Amino acid sequence: MSTVTTPVVLLRAHPYSESSRVLRFYTRELGLLGVMARGVRQGASKGRGSPGTFGEGIAAIVVRETRELQSLREFTPVKTRFGLAGDFRRLAGASIAAELVLRHAGQEPHAELYDALSEGLDRLEAVMPANVHGEVLALGWRMVQILGFGPELSACTACGEVLEEGDMGRFDLAAGGVRGPGCPAPPGSRRIGPVARAQLQSLLEGLVPPDLRGSGAHLSLLNDFTTFHMLGGRRLDSFRFLDPPDQAARDDPPTD
Ligand SMILES: [Zn+2]
Repeated sequence: MSTVTTPVVLLRAHPYSESSRVLRFYTRELGLLGVMARGVRQGASKGRGSPGTFGEGIAAIVVRETRELQSLREFTPVKTRFGLAGDFRRLAGASIAAELVLRHAGQEPHAELYDALSEGLDRLEAVMPANVHGEVLALGWRMVQILGFGPELSACTACGEVLEEGDMGRFDLAAGGVRGPGCPAPPGSRRIGPVARAQLQSLLEGLVPPDLRGSGAHLSLLNDFTTFHMLGGRRLDSFRFLDPPDQAARDDPPTD
């Protein structure tokens, strides 16, 4: 038994009893961790000892190797991130990132993943309303990439040939990458041109391209990709909260 002090982000919380909650943390030192927090429900509205979802802080956790759930001794909040909860699109973006981490992060430390999650949530909370979709995409695709599921964008998934700079490709969802112009693409696959490929590459690195176009189409691709490759075929409800108001923008694929 040992006590580990580590930065943590709260991904999910479940009530356990009158006074206890089960918290699912992503921690910088111990990876994904389930923690029992006793005596935190009364007066849990603010302050010390009561993390809120997507909040970040420093936790002292009593760890016993043989236990499924570890035990929270102390929590010092650093960032509440209340700004995420107050906007359903920001909340949806944070929930998508959390789901991917809950499903695929391990119990070993992964500082790059932790830092990307933390920075992405900060940016999602702070971004201007008009640019929320861009930050949702950057956070979501960054999680996909760091968790090891990033799509192949440079070489054709059928023949291996590297796409030329101006080539129009197709996105082969099942193969997890692009199809070059010389190979037949699966029926219904999206066209993905040079601009869209470059923008997707940037999003995988966690950067919003300054001239991001077709965010509806990018969101639809992120939805299909994560559903197929990371979520066992189950679509996340969160994507429904991200539909752009302009239906035309949603149907217009990122073709150029
Ligand atoms: Zn090919």
